[in-house]
Amino acid sequence: MVDLKGQYEQIKEQVNSSVLDVINSTAFINGPEVHSFQKELEEYLEVKHVIPCANGTDALQIAMMGLGLEPGDEVITADFTFAATVEVIALLRLTPVLVDVEPDSFNIDPEAIKKAITPKTKAIVPVHLFGQSANMDEIMAIANKHNLYVIEDNAQGIGSSYKFSNGTTTKTGAIGHVASTSFFPSKNLGCYGDGGAIFTNNDDLAHTIRGVVNHGMYKRYHHDVVGVNSRLDSIQATILRAKLPNLDHYNNARRAAARKYNKAFEGIENIITPKVEGNSCGTNHNTICDTCNCHVFHQYTLRITNGKRDQLAQHLNDNGVPCGVYYPIPLHSQKAYQDTRYNEADFPITNQLVKEVLSLPMHTELDDEQIEFITNTVINFVKD
Ligand SMILES: *Cc1c(COP(=O)(O)O)cnc(C)c1O
Repeated sequence: MVDLKGQYEQIKEQVNSSVLDVINSTAFINGPEVHSFQKELEEYLEVKHVIPCANGTDALQIAMMGLGLEPGDEVITADFTFAATVEVIALLRLTPVLVDVEPDSFNIDPEAIKKAITPKTKAIVPVHLFGQSANMDEIMAIANKHNLYVIEDNAQGIGSSYKFSNGTTTKTGAIGHVASTSFFPSKNLGCYGDGGAIFTNNDDLAHTIRGVVNHGMYKRYHHDVVGVNSRLDSIQATILRAKLPNLDHYNNARRAAARKYNKAFEGIENIITPKVEGNSCGTNHNTICDTCNCHVFHQYTLRITNGKRDQLAQHLNDNGVPCGVYYPIPLHSQKAYQDTRYNEADFPITNQLVKEVLSLPMHTELDDEQIEFITNTVINFVKD
């Protein structure tokens, strides 16, 4: 599904020497590399504060702790996402409220958010799923109207942008009150272990969060709030510094692969290719444009509409083509997150998507020959 080795080969010398430098410096924790990476990411994202932490799940949890959300507060998020999103809500004894998604973008449905709002609602967590921004025009409007926090889960969307209806373009992760991301190796900006970060434009919130990540300490050995220990280490930071200048290039390579996939699947029955919503460059081409930057293809996800998704996945595996089903079970159906408030009729899209979605290999090193083999293997099966 991913080719981390091929990508490493491109930056091997720089990574090797900077990792050795960190080892020689012995500044393994909170060293200058972490600080430099933080500054460089702030510049890249055009966001005021980046607070590095240990992983993307921690980042979400810490964002919610920083906002001061309390047990019983309701937090609305998508039914169709990775479990980390809902897990931290439940862990903090907040009340997760799962809602349905849109069939084209796979992202949280603003209409479903509106219906789920109660007097206890405190926050919305849009996930920029598979690398494409959720509908932030609508989501920010809903949040403003009801005085809610917006916490963007940008684990899959780093480097992508959202174009607002007023024409301004903002990088995902710099739109809501606070955002989280993950540097898990297979993410678009991945390190060689675990890593994550929180972003915000709010100075006070950034200050609070810098204490939360460090045992609730604002002055050495003075613990003002209950915190956690969540750090990005210097070795991961130096690897991320080598990769960050290439992030746009990596995302362009992903888009190039997605374009080739789309072209090969054009007009093939029983296959729905991923839709790109609202191209920022203004052309309504539903092609995948590098200047728009509106989709960074963390995943390239097809919908297989003839009921044979699982057989196709088996066929691909039998022919040596990796593939994945993200995600096979709606979160509202997971044992850990069942709730009597949920009604199956409220999740028609998620219930359908879990049966249809299939993600193909997507990374920065896919060549034409591989794409041709993958698409031919898919098409030959679907045609039979
Ligand atoms: C990967 C991911 C996370 C969690 O990131 P980790 O670094 O693995 O903890 C959270 N949300 C989404 C949507 C993700 O894809």
